[in-house]
Amino acid sequence: MYKYDMDELFELSIEALRKKGVEIQDIAEVVYELQKDYAPITIELCEENVLAVLRKRETIHAVLTALAIDKAVDQKLFDEPIQSIIEDDEGLYGIDEVLSLAVVNIYGSIGLTNFGFLDKQKIGIIDKLDKMKGKEVTTFTDDLVAAIAAAAASRLAHGFRIKEEEQHHEA
Ligand code: MG
Repeated sequence: MYKYDMDELFELSIEALRKKGVEIQDIAEVVYELQKDYAPITIELCEENVLAVLRKRETIHAVLTALAIDKAVDQKLFDEPIQSIIEDDEGLYGIDEVLSLAVVNIYGSIGLTNFGFLDKQKIGIIDKLDKMKGKEVTTFTDDLVAAIAAAAASRLAHGFRIKEEEQHHEA
C-alpha cells in the first residue's frame, strides 16, 4: 500500500476542497468577517491562519473524510436510511457537526463559539454551500468549512493575545 506523506495529504485535501468549489481565499474571507472588529487584520493574515489549520493532520483527515462522505452520498452509494438522512441534511442528524469538532477544538474554546456563530450566521462560502443543497450534497462540507474558519479565527485571536502579553511583559 502506498503511504502518503503530510505534504501530499495537504495538497490532496486542498484539491478536494477546490473540487467542491471551496478556495482558501473563500475561507479566509469568513475568518476576516469573524475577526475584523477585534483586531487590526488583513486578508493575508487570515489566509496564513487558514493554511496553518489546513496543514494539521486532524484537519486533513477531517477534510478528506467529510468530502468523501458527501461525494459518496451524491453518488447514492450509501444504504437506506442513512443515504436519505445525509442527502436531506436532516435537522437532527448531528454527525456532520461531531466530525467537524475535531477541527474546531484544535485551538481551544473560542473555536466553538465561532463555530456556533457560523451555524446561525452563514457567511460567504458557508452560505454558498448551504444554498447548493438540493443540487449537490454539502451536509458534511458546510460544517467542515465553518470549522476550519472557526479554528483559523481562534488561532489568529490567540496569536494576537500572545503578542499583547509579550508587550505587557516588556512594558
Ligand atoms: Mg451540515
